[in-house]
Amino acid sequence: MEIQSIGVVGAGQMGNGIAHVCAVAGYDVLLTDISQEALDAALARIDRNLERQVAREKITPEDKQAALARIRTTLKLADLGACDLIIESATERETVKTAIFEDLVPHLKPHTILTSNTSSISITRLASRTDRPEKFMGFHFMNPVPVMQLVELIRGIATDEETYNACLGVVERLGKTAASAEDFPGFIVNRILMPMINEAVYTLYEGVGSVQSIDQSLRLGANHPMGPLELADFIGLDTCLAIMNVLHDGLADTKYRPCPLLTKYVEAGWLGRKTQRGFYDYRGETPVPTR
Ligand code: NAD
Repeated sequence: MEIQSIGVVGAGQMGNGIAHVCAVAGYDVLLTDISQEALDAALARIDRNLERQVAREKITPEDKQAALARIRTTLKLADLGACDLIIESATERETVKTAIFEDLVPHLKPHTILTSNTSSISITRLASRTDRPEKFMGFHFMNPVPVMQLVELIRGIATDEETYNACLGVVERLGKTAASAEDFPGFIVNRILMPMINEAVYTLYEGVGSVQSIDQSLRLGANHPMGPLELADFIGLDTCLAIMNVLHDGLADTKYRPCPLLTKYVEAGWLGRKTQRGFYDYRGETPVPTR
């Protein structure tokens, strides 16, 4: 099946990036949100990020204008019914996502594929609330979307091969690389990355190393481009804790228990870069370790 138009639900951090890369790849994009301010902010952000790509000579000024012309916005979810593929990227709450899919279903074309960018909610469960579980799957981008190469494609229990292949074709046209994952908590990237970050926090908690020595050890000793605590601050400590809870609850194994020190940072509101303080304090010229 040839996909030409893509509907993106949710114009937040991820949704604007998804609209951006789809438009650059030549798809017609229809972006929706419940808030007009979110739609306006997303268009402004896309404009700035495209401009940055022009400055780096990754795209031409003509490519930028053509991409912007391919993005339309609407406050009416039902307008997305005409799209060939829908990528839902609204707030990470199951009740929000199921309501979106239930509202969308009566307006869809028979061939429309439904996908979700969820980081943690079961694809099979979301699919079961629609009229087309075989045309439903996970389409999990990494943040920031225009920069990160990987997309995880997650099959629900009922996802058919035609749907998988159509989504794989989209990932390839975006110039990205797909990793195929089964529908279990955390999929692949977060299943492996988050326990490593959590273990780094335990290493700090137990006094094995300082913030600096832990990050330096992984940068220089394992060739990671960023230390695990730096990376946790970048992702957001609340997000890291939420994903650890999903692994802990969903896999029912104590090896995924979130470190109490991670919980303490989140309770303090020290969520990382977005609040200027996490394992590092970002309020000065250079980041200073907080432990
Ligand atoms: P965000 O809070 O930046 O954006 C969510 C947007 O959804 C908001 O603009 C909100 O107004 C909108 N929204 C809420 N309810 C809606 C509805 N009923 N209809 C339409 N729009 C609605 O969140 P985000 O970081 O962009 O995350 C979106 C999704 O992407 C989540 O499922 C998240 O798990 C997933 N994800 C996030 C990351 C990340 O690093 N932030 C990475 C991969 C996947």
